[in-house]
Amino acid sequence: MASPAAQAAQPPPEIMDEAAFLREVRAFLSQALTPDLREAGRDTLGVHADIEACRIWHQRLYARGWIAPAWPKAWGGTGWTPRQRFLFDRECALNDAPVLFAGGVRSLGPLLIEMGTALQQQRYLPAILSGQDLWCQGFSEPGAGSDLAAISTRATLEGDHYRVNGTKIWTTGAHHANRMFAIVRTADGERRQQGLTFLLIDMDSPGLTVSPILGLAGDHEFNQVFFDDVRVPVASRVGAQDDGWTVAKRLMQLARSNNTPAALVRRALRRAAQAVVAVADQEPSLRMRLAGLEIELDAFEQAELAACPTGLPRPSDQTAPSMLKLIGTELHQRIAELTAQAAGPYAAASLGAVGLAGEAVDRGARIMAKHLAVRAASIYSGSSETQRNVIAQSLLKG
Ligand SMILES: Cc1cc2nc3c(=O)[nH]c(=O)nc-3n(C[C@H](O)[C@H](O)[C@H](O)COP(=O)(O)OP(=O)(O)OC[C@H]3O[C@@H](n4cnc5c(N)ncnc54)[C@H](O)[C@@H]3O)c2cc1C
Repeated sequence: MASPAAQAAQPPPEIMDEAAFLREVRAFLSQALTPDLREAGRDTLGVHADIEACRIWHQRLYARGWIAPAWPKAWGGTGWTPRQRFLFDRECALNDAPVLFAGGVRSLGPLLIEMGTALQQQRYLPAILSGQDLWCQGFSEPGAGSDLAAISTRATLEGDHYRVNGTKIWTTGAHHANRMFAIVRTADGERRQQGLTFLLIDMDSPGLTVSPILGLAGDHEFNQVFFDDVRVPVASRVGAQDDGWTVAKRLMQLARSNNTPAALVRRALRRAAQAVVAVADQEPSLRMRLAGLEIELDAFEQAELAACPTGLPRPSDQTAPSMLKLIGTELHQRIAELTAQAAGPYAAASLGAVGLAGEAVDRGARIMAKHLAVRAASIYSGSSETQRNVIAQSLLKG
């Protein structure tokens, strides 16, 4: 038996467990995150990494049983503690893992576990885990963004199916996805939130077309989707007819709570630190700002753990998902802005146009592209103003 002195020198069991867990995660990442995937992770500008890198990374996580750490173990989750999930996410981010196109894993899967029928769970959950099904989100319309209840895409019940007509816009990855979850109007209620229905739609349905929308940088990430007499089986409805608002609200909670996870912000902060350290002699004030942002990020990590200890937000908690999205996106943006400022004139988008080239110019251009790209995060999944409204309404009600 070890002497009392030797016992006292041993770290407590949870710390030993943590060290062993980290060793296991790092061993996996060192094998599975090949240089091509890390490069795709570093180059990510939009909502997700290059789609082929996403597919490969998804497969590797699935094969290891680690694709859905936040799901209940019975449905394919890992059974990790909150702290283990946190460490795993942070290790993935700091090792430049690709950001997955994962509306299925992050939002729809947990929603179906809570609200789907047994048939829907059997049919869709395994295909989400394996990566066979990629899901896009059909909420926004040309006349319905922040004012989501203004949705006018209409579904008419005809026997055992709905006939859907209308259009969805800004649909990220509709050109990659084979399925869409959407809300459509089935009735005109007294309140506009009434009369909406939540449907699961196959993207290869006759009458459904996807039309690309190019971003400002010429990239193709989102689309407009048109429905022309698209038939959707009644069995593909989640929740009751005309009660889709309840389902959509839960979906939004799930999406917002992991929209900009602390681990991704930590990755951005590391990039900022590299840029700031490089110019610290000339710009000492940037160091102070970096330190301030790091303190905010430490607090954000704790807030994330406290708000979602199971990995998923509590259905009764209206404020936490909006707060996490608001704090995460705005902190991420301020860090990206600091990085661009540290890069100084090299981050000026116009340098390439005036014929200047070189490693510093290329790096600066990448920094500026990221700075501009993260501006979108405070628009999608509900703008910052929308989150502030949700928080204020929920607190005033409370
Ligand atoms: C990169 C990206 C990806 C996206 N992907 C998807 C997707 O996959 N699926 C999908 O369904 N949608 C998607 N969207 C759409 C996104 O959800 C909407 O853009 C968002 O909800 C805002 O709607 P809007 O663009 O119509 O702006 P508007 O609603 O017209 O808002 C314009 C401005 O007015 C402000 N505003 C509006 N109402 C209020 C109010 N009541 N109080 C205070 N301020 C207000 C907003 O905050 C915003 O600043 C995506 C958007 C982006 C940028």
